[in-house]
Amino acid sequence: MYVLIVEDDRLLADGLQTAFRREAFDVVHAGDGANARSALQVLDFDIVVLDLGLPDIDGLELLHEIRQRKLKVPVLVLTARDGTEQQVMALDAGADDYMEKPFDLRELQARVRALIRRSHAGQGVALALGTLVVDPYQKEVRIDGDIHDLPAREYEVLESLLLSTPRGVSKARLAQRLALKGEQIGDNAVEVYIHRLRRRLRTAGIHIRTIRNLGYAIEAR
Ligand code: CA
Repeated sequence: MYVLIVEDDRLLADGLQTAFRREAFDVVHAGDGANARSALQVLDFDIVVLDLGLPDIDGLELLHEIRQRKLKVPVLVLTARDGTEQQVMALDAGADDYMEKPFDLRELQARVRALIRRSHAGQGVALALGTLVVDPYQKEVRIDGDIHDLPAREYEVLESLLLSTPRGVSKARLAQRLALKGEQIGDNAVEVYIHRLRRRLRTAGIHIRTIRNLGYAIEAR
């Protein structure tokens, strides 16, 4: 699960990062609107926690952009501004939930879990393709009902492929996602993981197709 925290208060951002990492989230922190924009361009997030008072832009502006780009990611707005009017404005702009500072961290996390559950409900919590079923919460992979233990990086690549069906995912985006695991990864490394996944999934009737000059798409035969 990937969370983008857009928050310029360093102390609060650190606290949020620690709390989400403890719940096994992969966390990206953006201290301003510009960094948040770049992060949203290169990664698909499961949730965005968005502060409204940012140094460069108003958080609501970023929220408008997210919805204009038709990104379906749930957004929880976090703000020091109080008042019903602010709340209505945020919800009208496409926020899925709203919390005023100071807030209870456990409540925030519960709301985030609820938002993610709701956003995944439409497509089912598990990602399924043919005989392959992946549960992104447990990071569990089943083929024909049997659990397969995948090395962490192969798992990341597989989950990205499944999330990107049917359009496919670029090599650069896969490398970005792997880099979040704390290592710079080139195109060649991505090819190695794709190769391993192909071997692993061959008997399950799952095929990873190469899209020329772009990346890969996963399909069931
Ligand atoms: Ca702020």
